[in-house]
Amino acid sequence: MAWYRNSYECTECGEEWEDEWSCCCDDECPNCGSSDWSPVDSENLSVIVETDDEMTFSIYYSPADAGHCPDYVLLAETKIKNLALFLQKLAFQLSAPE
Ligand SMILES: [Zn+2]
Repeated sequence: MAWYRNSYECTECGEEWEDEWSCCCDDECPNCGSSDWSPVDSENLSVIVETDDEMTFSIYYSPADAGHCPDYVLLAETKIKNLALFLQKLAFQLSAPE
């Protein structure tokens, strides 16, 4: 499923923190406890592409039925960069089919 690393900033006490969510949720400040902070930045982690020493691209995605963690599964491995980019787009579709 869609998976994000969100960055937050509390303007009440200046605390900055990150959290991983399956959506762009509001979060509570871990320092002073004030709530309803919206992410100032959000990184989509639904799909990750890893490369090894031999420049093989491994495309992982978080399946649509994943629960409270991303539960990455390997979609494919390839040495062809353009194919890896295509598979990455495909993987985003698989992680968030709606
Ligand atoms: Zn705070």
